[in-house]
Amino acid sequence: MAERRKYKKRYCKYCEAKIDYIDYKDLASLKYSLSERYKIMPRRLTGNCKRHQEMVAVAIKQSRAAALIPYTVSRKAVVTNPFENIK
Ligand SMILES: [Zn+2]
Repeated sequence: MAERRKYKKRYCKYCEAKIDYIDYKDLASLKYSLSERYKIMPRRLTGNCKRHQEMVAVAIKQSRAAALIPYTVSRKAVVTNPFENIK
């Protein structure tokens, strides 16, 4: 029940933290917008504003190219949520 409401509050975490630039090395802030399979979360789930979502998307792509975030996760590696602590 109420599983669709996993990401309940609709506000932009990056606006709240007053972030003007998202660094691709700053995984702590990128992980707010990554799923457990390291996919970029859509804005409708995270509540990010358009401006920050675009910055996040660019940063995550740079981060993948720098091998800080995996492009893909194999099925076996997805047993636990790596970002359990942030909910
Ligand atoms: Zn924002």
